[in-house]
Amino acid sequence: MDAMPKSFGTTAEETLDPVNWADIQALSHRVIDDAVDYLRDVRDRPVWREMPAEVRDFFATPLPRSPAPLAAVYGEVSRTVMSYPMGNIHPRFWSWYMGSSNFTGALGDFLAAIQGSNLGGGNHAAGLMDSQVVDWCKEMLGFPASASGTLVSGGSMANIIGLTVARNAKAGIDVREEGVAAIDKPLRFYGSDQLHSCHRKAMEALGLGNRALRRIPTDGGLRIDIAALRAAIAEDRAAGFRPACVIGTAGTVNTGAIDDLQALAKLAHEEDLWFHVDGCIGALIAISPENAHRVKGIEWADSIALDPHKWLHAPFEVGCALVRDASAHRKTFAVTPEYLESTPRGLASGQWLHDYGLQTSRGFRALKVWMALREHGIEKFGRLIDQNIAQGHYLSALIEAEPMLELTAPTNINIVCFRYRPIGMADGELKALNTEIMLRLQEEGIAAISDTTVHGQHCLRVAINNHRTRREDLDMLVEQTLRLGVLLEPSPQVGV
Ligand SMILES: *Cc1c(COP(=O)(O)O)cnc(C)c1O
Repeated sequence: MDAMPKSFGTTAEETLDPVNWADIQALSHRVIDDAVDYLRDVRDRPVWREMPAEVRDFFATPLPRSPAPLAAVYGEVSRTVMSYPMGNIHPRFWSWYMGSSNFTGALGDFLAAIQGSNLGGGNHAAGLMDSQVVDWCKEMLGFPASASGTLVSGGSMANIIGLTVARNAKAGIDVREEGVAAIDKPLRFYGSDQLHSCHRKAMEALGLGNRALRRIPTDGGLRIDIAALRAAIAEDRAAGFRPACVIGTAGTVNTGAIDDLQALAKLAHEEDLWFHVDGCIGALIAISPENAHRVKGIEWADSIALDPHKWLHAPFEVGCALVRDASAHRKTFAVTPEYLESTPRGLASGQWLHDYGLQTSRGFRALKVWMALREHGIEKFGRLIDQNIAQGHYLSALIEAEPMLELTAPTNINIVCFRYRPIGMADGELKALNTEIMLRLQEEGIAAISDTTVHGQHCLRVAINNHRTRREDLDMLVEQTLRLGVLLEPSPQVGV
């Protein structure tokens, strides 16, 4: 036997594993104990607070070259990151639109990282669980078992998946091989003027361009105007375009409006268009006992984007794309390089999950969703959705009862648009006053709400996608808004 080269074997190899497992066990117990306390006491902390300069400066520390004990590293994280969160796990966080996470999901993320599997594919248990969670998503929405799907980073990616399959299915050529420039008639996609901004990014990334996405006007309820849509499609056909896809929204980000999905499905069928539903907010209403009727027709879609990190409260990130025609889905993304070929047995004999999207390596997102669904059961999640919708209507009633407050859009589900409106104040001043109320609510740590503009009118916006919110929190929001309104209102001019 040859002698080992001199450079080998003289010192012990290095590893990232702990030197002393008992120490790491003790520290880990402390981390978990702190995490449980952190979540238990979330209500007692401010929703949000501005970071002091020393915390900001901490994030400018240079690249570490030498080691530090893990306990010290944890201390730094605790003092900075853990102390200045965005606030979306707080019961009075209602900004933009996101979920409020849950402890079981956090354990799932931890275990997923410990187990460490790559969900790009292969024959292992995590891969089967990933497919099972996709199957559960289909079942929750009444989608056929033969459909395909994939877990992705969130709703934006899920929409990109759906719209990419739509483009390829309707292009009339092999877009993968020839590219969009070879499409004979420019494709046209349609959605309402309330469409989420991710669709614009999708159209740009797909090479179709923003202008290929026609925004159709909405009615008084902020739903897509079906007659206007029909007219736009006819106009485009006459002008030499190829109408390809209609995007229905189940829960718009501004006001929670739900397009008439049954009418859209029918129209898409008649016009031979792909029917995609952006259900990032509302698709999961399908599991709620009292409100499921609102999303009737979603099961007729060709593709759906939904967002378990919203109304299933999974820790970020996890979205899901579902596609009715599994083969159209696979044909859009599958590429099998020689180093990823399947074998009849062994590790490479499983499904290649990366064939259904853009990523190759994929995280084990399924576990956090699976564990929370298994623990609580789907009925509880359905009730929590009903609870948030009831809270949206409760808040609307409080607002309607206050002479200084007004609703600025109809409340459909769990999103409430309103403003503080002293008598005789002009629109421009109202925007400044309401913006200031919103900022003070945030800065005083009382509540996090956001603002928007609906049909040209600025308003405050409360999106209650939160399993920790109680009615008393909404009572407090109204009280504090009125307090700040009176405080900030410019005092009336005294005559001379
Ligand atoms: C949140 C949302 C998205 C984007 O989803 P992400 O998970 O944030 O990527 C898309 N559409 C609608 C209607 C949304 O509410």
